[in-house]
Amino acid sequence: MASVESHQDEQPLEYVSRYGGREFRYHLCYVPDHKKATIRVHVHPNGMVQVDAPESAQLPEIKSAVQRRARWILKHLDDIEERHRDVRPRQWVSGESMLYLGRRYVLKVINDPNQQKVTCKLLGGQLRVQGNNVSPERTQKVVSQWYRDKARDVFERRLKLMVDTLPWTQTLPPWRIMEMQTQWGSCSPEGAVLLNPHLVKAPTRAIDYVILHELCHLVEHNHSQRFYNLLDRFMPEWRTIKEALDGKAEILLSETALPEFR
Ligand SMILES: [Zn+2]
Repeated sequence: MASVESHQDEQPLEYVSRYGGREFRYHLCYVPDHKKATIRVHVHPNGMVQVDAPESAQLPEIKSAVQRRARWILKHLDDIEERHRDVRPRQWVSGESMLYLGRRYVLKVINDPNQQKVTCKLLGGQLRVQGNNVSPERTQKVVSQWYRDKARDVFERRLKLMVDTLPWTQTLPPWRIMEMQTQWGSCSPEGAVLLNPHLVKAPTRAIDYVILHELCHLVEHNHSQRFYNLLDRFMPEWRTIKEALDGKAEILLSETALPEFR
């Protein structure tokens, strides 16, 4: 696909590069020479790969520079692909990916005429839904219920561990799961803790951070300096964890709109 148009052409030139059995296209743009001109590679958020090269650069030199960055370019393209996959509406069919404790699992729907009751379980790398005549609606329902059950189990286990660690808690505070649009958790002035079931899709450290945050509110009701001092003392790296969790919020909260159970 190599183009042989002249450097002065306004249109960017398109080339194809191959690496590890895969290929990607890139646009080559010549930029005016200046002292520190080097060949630069950008991957735009829409997946376009742009290579800026000084006008004096020779094509073989440019191509080998792109080749040296090929692994990095493909990694970025994969990340972009992944982000797009996350925001596509779900069909609740085999092949879709599901998050649990920060890891991805592939949804597998198996029609089994001999099994009346539809089940949902983790098996190897799959989240397997199995039963007779499983519709996407039914799949959504059992997967949502599975998430809620897991959220209850995991949060209870992590709460117990955290309660044992903290000097101001002896027993589990009253707590339950509740879907919230904009919060991972909350703690009422009476000391009742709410945790968002979507949080079970995040890594365990993120779950621990949210639990610690709410348990710190048992002693410090506001986000005062004393509150942050407690967080710093019991989880010095909490800021990094919070940043990563909030960065994923859109995906975690929207990925499966857990239907209301009536
Ligand atoms: Zn708070």
